[in-house]
Amino acid sequence: MRRPTSTSTDAVHAGEPRARPHHTLTAQVALTATYTFDDSADLARYMRGEDADPGREEYGRYGNPTTREVERRVAALEGADDALLFSSGMAAMTTTALALVKAGDHVVLFSDCYRRTRQFVTTTLARLGVRATLVPPADLDAMSAALTPETRLVITESPTNPYLTCVDLAELSRRVRAAGRARVVVDSTFATPVNQRPALSGVELIVHSATKYLAGHNDVLAGAVAGPSHLISLIRELRGVLGGVCDPHAAFLVGRGMKTLSLRVERQSSTALAVATRLASHPRVARVFYPLLPSHPTHDVARAAMRGGGGVVSFVVRGGREAACAVVDRARLARIAPSLGGVETLIEHVASMSYFELDDAALALVGIDPGLVRLSVGVEETEDVVDDVVTALGA
Ligand code: PLP
Repeated sequence: MRRPTSTSTDAVHAGEPRARPHHTLTAQVALTATYTFDDSADLARYMRGEDADPGREEYGRYGNPTTREVERRVAALEGADDALLFSSGMAAMTTTALALVKAGDHVVLFSDCYRRTRQFVTTTLARLGVRATLVPPADLDAMSAALTPETRLVITESPTNPYLTCVDLAELSRRVRAAGRARVVVDSTFATPVNQRPALSGVELIVHSATKYLAGHNDVLAGAVAGPSHLISLIRELRGVLGGVCDPHAAFLVGRGMKTLSLRVERQSSTALAVATRLASHPRVARVFYPLLPSHPTHDVARAAMRGGGGVVSFVVRGGREAACAVVDRARLARIAPSLGGVETLIEHVASMSYFELDDAALALVGIDPGLVRLSVGVEETEDVVDDVVTALGA
């Protein structure tokens, strides 16, 4: 594991070459599907691994210099040996998991993880003969009890969506290591490397939906995984087979967005804390979920592990489903949309968006309050975001 240096400086510079073609300051987008060889001897040298340029590529599905530069930056930010970019966060998670399990293996998953990750593990992996056990949010005793000699992966997020539950990653990693051969995969999308460094807690593989904070502008889909070289090599190999590579245009946008990662996340975290603090005493709000509010059930874990609480605040509006929809409809600055982490403030009534197909009884089974609203704050003026939510809540 590499020790991370300064996040803001790494976010701007890590992975960049000192000299670029034509002396440009910024990265060029290498738009090529394939790469050429001068003659048969040149090709033979490359195939034997004897080329003077270790970064030389053969074909676009195996690598691209624009993408590679951003991968090195993600690795530096996470304090990992290496990293890979993918076409989406789901491509990153599914390729990572598929690279590390086989039929007969077992996976432990926290039940509040991103629902498509849960769907992938409980349906796709199940069809391939990989068993899964779901354990309650942040419950490390349940996680320990679920570990078997066949467990190869423990997958969690921290903070989770939409209740922003934080998991004690150091304790989780210690328990998993002590129990056997499983590897910990953390989806750190909500935390970002600005607010949390899972590698420092012993986590081996760190996944991101780079669509969210890393790219940060709601204009591109991408994913990333960072970790030790030997595991990243395995995952790279499978990425070349499954094909979920990040397009060089998209990689450029991720890399360009990452230059302002620290600035954005610091602003988003302080605005979200201001919103959460204001809502905590609002008469129309029954409950607020934000990792750094003392009332949050995993506040102690968040305080110990996180620099900032991130840009997402969830809150339950008094009056249930209709009242929550009315709040979302009255918001003016915040736009109704799924996703999070970008520069624009977004709002969603959780039951109408991510859980549309469930009635109130079914929502209760998955622990979603019908009055729950999720706000992802952008980088607008803090007072404007607070005013928008307070105005939307009404008198
Ligand atoms: N992980 C988390 C925590 C997410 O919120 C999402 C998407 O919402 C994903 C993974 C999937 O990422 P993508 O949409 O980039 O495939």
